[in-house]
Amino acid sequence: DRGAYDRTVRTVCPFCGVGCQVDLKIRDDRIAWVEGADGPANEGRLCVKGRFGFDYIHSPQRLTKPLIRREGAPKGLNVDPANPLTHFREATWEEALDAAAGGLRRIADEHGPRAVAGFGSAKCSNEEAYLFQRLIRQGFGHNNVDHCTRLCHASSVAALIENIGSGAVTATFNEIENADVAIVIGANPIENHPVAATYFKQFAKRGGKLIVMDPRGVGLRRHATHMLKFRPGTDVAMLNAIMAAIVEEGLYDRQYIETWTENWEAEKAHLARFSPEAMAPICGIPAETLRAVARDFATARAGMIFWGMGVSQHVHGTDNARCLISLALMCGHVGRPGTGLHPLRGQNNVQGASDAGLIPMFLPDYQSVTDDAARAHFAEIWQSGDFSAEKGLTVTEILDAVHAGDIRAMYILGENPAMSDPDLNHARAALASLEHLVVQDIFLTETAMYADVVLPAAAFYEKSGTVTNTNRQVQMGRPAVPPPGEAREDWAIIVDIARRLGLNWSYAHPREIFDEMKRGMKSLDNITWDRLEREGAVTYPSLSPEDPGQSIVFGSGFPRQGGRASFTPADIVPPAERPDADFPMILTTGRQLEHWHTGAMTRRASVLDAVEPEANCSLHPATLKRLGVRPGERVRLTTRRGSIELMARADRAVAEDMVFLPFAYVEAAANLLTNPALDPYGKIPEFKFAAVRVEPA
Ligand code: SF4
Repeated sequence: DRGAYDRTVRTVCPFCGVGCQVDLKIRDDRIAWVEGADGPANEGRLCVKGRFGFDYIHSPQRLTKPLIRREGAPKGLNVDPANPLTHFREATWEEALDAAAGGLRRIADEHGPRAVAGFGSAKCSNEEAYLFQRLIRQGFGHNNVDHCTRLCHASSVAALIENIGSGAVTATFNEIENADVAIVIGANPIENHPVAATYFKQFAKRGGKLIVMDPRGVGLRRHATHMLKFRPGTDVAMLNAIMAAIVEEGLYDRQYIETWTENWEAEKAHLARFSPEAMAPICGIPAETLRAVARDFATARAGMIFWGMGVSQHVHGTDNARCLISLALMCGHVGRPGTGLHPLRGQNNVQGASDAGLIPMFLPDYQSVTDDAARAHFAEIWQSGDFSAEKGLTVTEILDAVHAGDIRAMYILGENPAMSDPDLNHARAALASLEHLVVQDIFLTETAMYADVVLPAAAFYEKSGTVTNTNRQVQMGRPAVPPPGEAREDWAIIVDIARRLGLNWSYAHPREIFDEMKRGMKSLDNITWDRLEREGAVTYPSLSPEDPGQSIVFGSGFPRQGGRASFTPADIVPPAERPDADFPMILTTGRQLEHWHTGAMTRRASVLDAVEPEANCSLHPATLKRLGVRPGERVRLTTRRGSIELMARADRAVAEDMVFLPFAYVEAAANLLTNPALDPYGKIPEFKFAAVRVEPA
């Protein structure tokens, strides 16, 4: 018996991109428990994070007052987040906002506006993401604003926009119930999108052919028709071989290709070099298996492709995604029930934050900053002058520019680059060298430990705002409990900073920001705040005020010149760093079921922390035996960039030459080891491949 409660508030889970709707049971202004609500993505289901990972919002470590760094206090991870007053002093909001905005203005005046940059967050609402990019663009006149999509699916979005004209999914993941075959590649949905995984498992249970491709034997393998455990970094070789088999055996959809695509002849000629027999030794999958998968996918009535960061987080991430798009197009598996391309989004609002323009090359709705008409339209909406037509710097480029002395001040909202960026020693040194850093967050995160001014924000369950999930479903987030102490909603803090920077902004409620967004974003046509309040979720595009939205798009052409999608041939590009005598194994990083990204929230959630309290990595039992290490004992992992020690687990699903490392643990931060080499198109770092040495600790 969970006892009585005062009210129920329906909102959206703050963790992954599935976007499950939740019913929060509130007692005495605290969340007593959480139940799954009947949202379009989850139909009442929740995973362990959504169901039990909520009490971080009541943590005694929540920031409740603005903080200003004490004179001379050293910057770095030397602050106890439970006792920040050793390094910071409490301030009034007036003083903190003046210090935050005043510092940004001073640096811009002394060194030019490009000396200031901003990181927004996919953990904030659409309205907050929109306001943040507007602040940087209007307030400083340039586009040096980005967020964690750069570390997640930027390469997928680059390939999707290039080839189908849109960065969002072409079909909801729930469409799998109408599919005959589905490929899940470079994703571990049982841990990272657990509710979506329940639909995948049901699909397999009713006889759907589930083809799982991953260098690690992810949990979904137990439900798979084929499990292709290919060699890390050989995605293009494997996918081109599958496509080559489809061409060779004449299984492609000629009519679809002729009607809806361009550049097929170039793709077809390119694939001739990638026969399954030639690629099998490279990717480690027998040619016959590659051919069997090719036949299953190409001859199915309806097929879908899902992918995750195992595809995107490589120096060839955009090429990997190009292959997946080509595979779907050549089989005509786009635009019909049970077909589609679906990059599984990471954070609960990474789709929405990207749609809202929180990226350095695009204004809201992916309108290029180089497009004069688009800039003029936003200048009119914002009643501002023109702003730069030059694409801005991305997350890792901004930190490089800090090292170069070109960027001297940052405003970081809800992001934790001191944990999330590759080669953390480099990232942390950049944060330490900033002349002025403003961090707005709910905890004294590792990044906030480098700040000059810390602004306490409301958590997701404490505020109003819309979010957009992996399915393009725009959903209403509702405040369930008041923020602690003096913490405030992010949008209201951004507005106060903007006013101090001289911008004449005035919003009384997020609905006014949403209304402004609609003026510049056609994707929100027919979606209103009132509808979202009433209906909870509307999928974009919505074709009329009554249309719940289109779960499948591009059945009659693509948003590209001539309405045609394109094939872009992809060549094999090796990982940026190869194992050698000094670093003989392969390091790959990722998430685990109980902990979310850098752990700021889930490691302060009592149930989740109790289940997974300690930093760990996974190795094959044979590898542990060779090292003379028993499961539970400690190992040292070393790459060219750093070294960490942590507990080792045995996992037969990990290849014998690999180590899998979750990145949620500050005491053994995975990104001290990762390689910052970038994909040239999406500018995403190669988190999924680095050369590593493993030793007993
Ligand atoms: Fe939350 Fe994702 Fe779990 Fe759903 S699947 S409850 S959105 S973490």
